[in-house]
Amino acid sequence: MTSSARRIAIIGGGITGMSAAFYLRKYFREQELSPQITIVEQSGSLGGKVHTLHKDGFVIEKGPDSYLARKTAMTELAQEVGLGDDLVTTNPNAKKTYILHDGQLHPMPSGLVLGIPTELRPFMESDLISMDGKIRALEDFLLPAKMDGKDESLGDFIERRLGKEVLENVTEPLLAGIYAGDTRKLSLQATFPQFGTVEREYGSLIKGMNTGRKPVETHTGTKKSTFYTFKNGLQSLTDRLEQQLATDVAFKLSTGAESIRYENGLYTIALSDGTTLEAEHVVVTVPAFAAAPLLQGHVDTAALDQINYVSVANVVMAFDRKDIETEYDGSGFLVPRKEGRTITACTWTSTKWLHTSPDDRVLMRFYVGRDGQEQIVDESDEQITAKVLHDMRELMGIQATPLFTEITRLRRSMPQYPVGHLDDISALRSELSTERPGMLLLGAGYDGVGLPDCIRTARDAAQLEAQRTVSLRVLK
Ligand code: FAD
Repeated sequence: MTSSARRIAIIGGGITGMSAAFYLRKYFREQELSPQITIVEQSGSLGGKVHTLHKDGFVIEKGPDSYLARKTAMTELAQEVGLGDDLVTTNPNAKKTYILHDGQLHPMPSGLVLGIPTELRPFMESDLISMDGKIRALEDFLLPAKMDGKDESLGDFIERRLGKEVLENVTEPLLAGIYAGDTRKLSLQATFPQFGTVEREYGSLIKGMNTGRKPVETHTGTKKSTFYTFKNGLQSLTDRLEQQLATDVAFKLSTGAESIRYENGLYTIALSDGTTLEAEHVVVTVPAFAAAPLLQGHVDTAALDQINYVSVANVVMAFDRKDIETEYDGSGFLVPRKEGRTITACTWTSTKWLHTSPDDRVLMRFYVGRDGQEQIVDESDEQITAKVLHDMRELMGIQATPLFTEITRLRRSMPQYPVGHLDDISALRSELSTERPGMLLLGAGYDGVGLPDCIRTARDAAQLEAQRTVSLRVLK
């Protein structure tokens, strides 16, 4: 090995591990370092939660289905790997989102920004909140701001500012849905830090969210949308990454990392096939519960044990269009906990994403399972299907039988950032950088669950690691 050659082991081949490999290679090469990168992935394929199924002319996402366009790291990566032209936008004629309230679907009032009402008229006219609930929400203009900057739960924050009814009927289904979580347990700072900032700056959440309101749509060339995906599905990005990495990155598939030893600047990783892998850099991108045993003995891993992962499933159903009488004018609906349903949300996929279905078919995706309601994931396919169909018939009036149903269980897949998460992870990382230079902890468990968050943090960490490595070489 030449003195500028560096061995890098990446543990976990999801979007974080793959982006880390892509950007480490790029930034190390820019510093004239030759990285020898190996991705160690326990399952038989790369991509992690990203998984697209092509079936009977449908594009079906079994994991994530799109990403927030304003978080640009994913679009930038897509462009870097030559997939920028494959990005597609949501149907501009299906902008509405509905919320279930007392068994009926109601359109969300216009002017909601991340579930916070910023336009008073549509909020006051909405049937989702009682008059008492609306008056309570308006107290937000008068209540003193909490200025200490200390973390609290997202639910406590929203209730403190806007009252329990807005929390339960509007904000919780919208915001907690992203995490399949319970707002009373999720950290405000780690999920929606902008709310705390707005409270401190403006004194009122309604006022501040309205003043700071930015156009939510993002442009890429001629494309304009809140969300993007790829015309052949999200997996086209991980497939393209795999193809481009394969030229000089080694993939060890169906191989789990079991432990990591450190001695004199060298990491030795014990693998499930009985072999070991040596490297000067180790990037751990697995979920927190899988990272904890790997990091044990290196740093205090208590913060990792605090991150609960919730199990969910999604149930995709395809229909013949002639069997569905309703023309949908929105992207789908959300189901608050107190409605007592099995489904937590529904996306009218073929309406929201026109590329996903043949014209004479309809595709819907139902979400089940969330914090406190995870047992459904362990039920049989028949039980899950029957419960989803029951909700669908009652809520949407559809009597049709699906052409087919695809159920995907994602056990322990949704990290729940607890109150104090950011400080805890920052302390862990600081200990790691002192005790174990060259060892990085990245992934959805720590800095944001969205795909663009995973890519951004992998890219930023790769750049810093390349700089750190080159400055060490200069010092030597
Ligand atoms: P993962 O994808 O979990 O990858 C980690 C990898 O590590 C896995 O492949 C695993 O097999 C491997 N591994 C584990 N242990 C070991 C070990 N010991 N040794 C080797 N390998 C190991 N985000 C969005 O932006 N938009 C969405 O629409 C969206 N929808 C979602 C819907 C669902 C149902 C879920 C579950 C998530 C969704 N997300 C969405 C979030 C997003 O999909 C994830 O945050 C992201 O894919 C996580 O990527 P990752 O690489 O950090 O982790």
